[in-house]
Amino acid sequence: MSRLPILSLLLTIGLSGPSLATDIRPAASTPPTGASAKSPALVEPRLKVKGSGIATRPRVALTFDACMGQADPRIISVLVNERIPATIFVTARWLRKNPETTAIFLQHPDLFELENHGENHIPAVDVPVAIYGIPAAGSPDAVAREVSGGASAMLASGIAAPRWFRGSTAKYDASSIRQIRQMGYRIAGYSVNGDGGSLLGADMAEKRVAGAKDGDVVLAHINQPTHAAGEGVARALLSLKKRGTEFVKLSDAEEIGDNETTR
Ligand SMILES: [Zn+2]
Repeated sequence: MSRLPILSLLLTIGLSGPSLATDIRPAASTPPTGASAKSPALVEPRLKVKGSGIATRPRVALTFDACMGQADPRIISVLVNERIPATIFVTARWLRKNPETTAIFLQHPDLFELENHGENHIPAVDVPVAIYGIPAAGSPDAVAREVSGGASAMLASGIAAPRWFRGSTAKYDASSIRQIRQMGYRIAGYSVNGDGGSLLGADMAEKRVAGAKDGDVVLAHINQPTHAAGEGVARALLSLKKRGTEFVKLSDAEEIGDNETTR
């Protein structure tokens, strides 16, 4: 067999592959992060709530992701005992394993708003790409399944229909943002990365969360009871409360999200 077909095949892959990828997905305003050269432009949207404007009473929205695995009693006990409201993003996967904690959340509707973190914790990006090593949904159909599968599991667990969605890794491309918005959701970004994906040490997580300012939306995790970060997050909640912080759930606040995630 001639070597020519193989050579032309290699040339085709090498030359048209990357340009095709660029052609399908127009670049968004934010440069790609954590993605290879062939990936679509991913954005990690920022979300804030309208601040109180009162220095002694800063308004902060706490959001916790329950990705999979377990529940963190260090954080949950502080939220319940100190009566601190928060928005919890749950996956179908997490709900299946944590009915007792789900019941605690449902027993305190004044404190906890439960929202959609997807069915299987798959990044809600509609082209094949891996984010932090996690393969994304990869197609619009798979994004739709991830979003609606999360919502169905919530309804089956007796939770009210979600109005907010936050995908695994909190990254999207412009077309998946449009798609999820068309499904009726606002997309929950954040403005303070409280625990570095639950991987920070306790002191650093405490410093980050306790540093939340008027209007901040804090993202931390409530599913890693064995990680040191949760201990720091729990301590920070107490110091925020002591400082006079007004805690709001996402649906109780006027929110401002970029990348067309909320309006
Ligand atoms: Zn997650």
